[in-house]
Amino acid sequence: MDTKRTTVSLAVMLALPLLASSAAASPACANRVNNTQAKLLECVTLDAVREHQMVFQEIADANGGNRASGTPGYDATVDYLAGELEDAGYDVTIQAFEFQTFVNLSPSLLELVSPAPAGPVANSIFSYSGSGDVTAPVAALAAPPADPTPGCEAADFAGFPAGSIALISRGGCTFAIKATNAYAAGSSGVVIYNNAPGVLNGTLGTDFALAIPVTSVTQDVGQQLAATAGLVMRLKTDVFSGLATTYNVLAETRNGDPGNVIMVGAHLDSVDEGPGINDNGSGSAAVLETALQMAKVKPRNKVRFAWWGAEESGLVGSRHYVNGLSDEERDDIALYLNFDMIGSPNYVRFVYDGDGSAFELEGPPGSDVIEAFFERFYAVRGLESEPTQISFRSDYAAFFDFGIPFGGLFTGAEGIKSVEQEAIYGGVAGEQYDPCYHLVCDTIDNVSLEVLDLNADAVAAATLQYAMNTQAVNARKGKGNFKPPKDMENLGAWKVR
Ligand SMILES: [Zn+2]
Repeated sequence: MDTKRTTVSLAVMLALPLLASSAAASPACANRVNNTQAKLLECVTLDAVREHQMVFQEIADANGGNRASGTPGYDATVDYLAGELEDAGYDVTIQAFEFQTFVNLSPSLLELVSPAPAGPVANSIFSYSGSGDVTAPVAALAAPPADPTPGCEAADFAGFPAGSIALISRGGCTFAIKATNAYAAGSSGVVIYNNAPGVLNGTLGTDFALAIPVTSVTQDVGQQLAATAGLVMRLKTDVFSGLATTYNVLAETRNGDPGNVIMVGAHLDSVDEGPGINDNGSGSAAVLETALQMAKVKPRNKVRFAWWGAEESGLVGSRHYVNGLSDEERDDIALYLNFDMIGSPNYVRFVYDGDGSAFELEGPPGSDVIEAFFERFYAVRGLESEPTQISFRSDYAAFFDFGIPFGGLFTGAEGIKSVEQEAIYGGVAGEQYDPCYHLVCDTIDNVSLEVLDLNADAVAAATLQYAMNTQAVNARKGKGNFKPPKDMENLGAWKVR
């Protein structure tokens, strides 16, 4: 691996020859008991992970371009996973649940009517926006620094001309609060502009039910519009918002202590906009291949693999699952590993900040140990990594809320790579970690093969480690040969290749 890499263009980095471990799984793998780190990591190959991603891509192509929960694309993905897991001998549970879905029936339209020149303006509808077709004057609210919380208080709309479209900067409170205040002030539509570079892909949340069209534009466009006198615009949205049924997929080992369960999860759904091959076809495929290659292992601790539905609608599937357990069933869960976006093209090797060393929020006790495991997984390969904030933007949130230790990996989404990060991880500073985050271009080509190969191994290494021994996390005795080592260097996954 190449921490000392000079900066190369993104295109070249993605085309890099695959690492040794990416060779197709040898026939031996199919029937092998992969109960050591070396054996398992040899069998969890990039090719196999990519094959799953390719199936996800084909499913999306055949189902309107996405695999969003509540759509045929998602249901076909569920069927694919269930088939693979059952063939490998797992007990598979398909857990159905209802969620408030949001479907964009046709692309939202934002148009400049006057002053001239008129024309369309690039915009990105908020999920759970209402439907509407309005043409009206635009009234811009005071923005930071004049008002650090624009649209967050009813007083911000004092004197607001009823019937106008409200133009509001991001920041200070949720998008839903801004839109609700605007609606209460008599606005006919809402345009929220980002307060940082990049496209704003936001949600109003599943509880938002007001019949008002709400969309977003970039910071540049928003500031230009706010500075335009006599602005009249048209905003048209056409959406469906209502209850739909979707599924979690659960597969657990037949063996292993049911009182010390290792949960390993990834969300399976994509957003409406695209096939979601990095978000989250990367995590889903790596967890799937790990499960398939561990199918013959007899773990000390029961391993329960989970693929969550409706994560993009607010972590609905994982919350449904964890909330639906009894206290005893929750107590039986030793830890949870989360893998959401582990193949970003312009990646950073992020590890959830379990010990709170960087962001002052610790995970439940034991989360620090899981963070250390991943840090060392990289370090013994001569690779740097860095902590990422516990932001509750992925499926570990419900486990955190019940005090279950968690950890996991992430390679970046809409955040912007720094110059320092470019020096360490390569790629391009000033660009998003995933330039296609929540966009139609999150396809099979929107993945760093290099980091996906590495992270698939990390998924497998952590799963096997804790399948055999959680002693370092929860003091429960485990298999001797997976005892947390004093000297990391001489054990399996930590052995430098
Ligand atoms: Zn995701």
